[in-house]
Amino acid sequence: MAEYITLGVKKEEDPSENRVSIVPKDVKSIINLGLSVEVEEDSGNRAGYTNEDYESSGAKIVKTLSSKVNIVTALNAFYNKKSDFIKNASVISLTDVRTDEDISNICKNNELSLFAMEFVPRIARAQKLDALSSQASIAGYRAGLLAATSLKKYLPLMMTAAGTIPPSSILVLGAGVAGLQAIATAKRLGAEVTGYDIRLAAGEQIESLGAKFISDEIPEDTETSGGYAKEQSKDSQISQLEFLKEYILKSDAVISTAAIPGRKAPILIEKDTVEQMKPGSVIVDISAPSGGNCESTILGESVDVKGTTVHGPKNLSSEMAYDASIVYSKNIFGLLEIIINENKLEINLEDEIIDAMLVFQDGKKRIEV
Ligand code: NAD
Repeated sequence: MAEYITLGVKKEEDPSENRVSIVPKDVKSIINLGLSVEVEEDSGNRAGYTNEDYESSGAKIVKTLSSKVNIVTALNAFYNKKSDFIKNASVISLTDVRTDEDISNICKNNELSLFAMEFVPRIARAQKLDALSSQASIAGYRAGLLAATSLKKYLPLMMTAAGTIPPSSILVLGAGVAGLQAIATAKRLGAEVTGYDIRLAAGEQIESLGAKFISDEIPEDTETSGGYAKEQSKDSQISQLEFLKEYILKSDAVISTAAIPGRKAPILIEKDTVEQMKPGSVIVDISAPSGGNCESTILGESVDVKGTTVHGPKNLSSEMAYDASIVYSKNIFGLLEIIINENKLEINLEDEIIDAMLVFQDGKKRIEV
C-alpha cells in the first residue's frame, strides 16, 4: 500500500474523444484529500480547460505520467493497447472489459487494479459516482438538439401571419436516463413528444415530463432488480416491431435509446420501416455504439435512406465536452472519497460500491463481468 498517493490524469488517445477525466476545479479537491496530481500536457484542451487552469489549481503538467503515479484516471484508459501502462497502478475509467479480452490481459500483465466506471451499482449511495447516468443525460439532451436541427421543420406550433404551422412530433424509444432527457429537451423546444419503453415503470416518468406514453401488450416481466430492461423473447420482439411501426411512421423524428447492459441493442426500427417514413424525417440512434436500434444505422455516420436521415452518433456526450467533463470528474471524485483515507489508498472489499467496480485487483481478476 503506497504511503503518498499521486493521481495522474491521462490524455485521451481517441482522436474523437474531447472530454477529460478530471477538471481543474476538482484538482483542488483532490489535493485537499492529500494527493498530488499530475496531468498530461493538453489533456483538457479539447474540453476547454488549459494547462494553465490545471497548474493554477495545483497540478503538475507532464509530457507523460511518471512512474510515481498510483492512480490513473481516464475516460478510456485502454483505447491504445500499446500505451505504456504504469505497473501496479489503479486505473479508474470507463472500459469495454466486458467484451474486450485485451483489456484483461493488459490488467494482468501490468498488475493493475481496475475500477470500471460502467459498473457503479445503481444504489442511492453511489449516485454521485454514476458515470453512465451523467453521460447518458448529456447524450439525451444532445440527441434532442440534433433531431431538432436536422428536421426541416419547426418543433413548436407556430401561428404566423403567413399561416399556422403544426408542431413536429417526436417519438423517443427507451425512456431510461438518456431517453427521459431527450423527451424533456424535445418538450422544451415545443414538439409533441411520445415515449415508449418496455419497462412499465417508465410510463409514469414519461408522463411526468408532459409527454404521451405508449405501451403495447407487455407479456413478460421486463425489468431486472437493478432497474434495467431484460432481453425479450423472439415473439415479443416481433409483436413490438409491429406495434412500433405505426407510431414511427407518424413521427417526424425518432430518438432511440433502448439498451440492455452487456448485450447488443434491440432492433426497434426495421430498414423497411425507415424506407416508408415521410421524406425529411430524422432518426437519432443513440444506441449506435452498442449495435443500434435501427437496422439502417451506421456507427459514426449520418446516412440518407429514401429521404430520411439516420444519425448513428459515436459519442454524443463528447460533443458537450466542457460540461460532460465536469460531471464525469465529479463521479471520479466520488470514488476517490471512498478509496482514499488519510492520504492512503484503502480498498475495502466489504463496501458494495468497491465490490461491484473493482474488476481487477493487483492484476488478478476478482469479478466475472
Ligand atoms: P439503459 O441505457 O440500459 O437502457 C435505456 C432504456 O432502454 C431503458 O429504460 C430500458 O428499459 C429501455 N429498453 C431496453 N430494451 C428495450 C426495448 N426492447 N424496447 C423499449 N425499451 C427498451 O438504461 P438506463 O438509462 O441506464 O436506466 C435504466 C434504469 O435504471 C432506469 O429505470 C433508471 O431510472 C434507473 N437508474 C437508477 C439509478 C439509481 O438508482 N442510482 C441510476 C441511473 C438509472
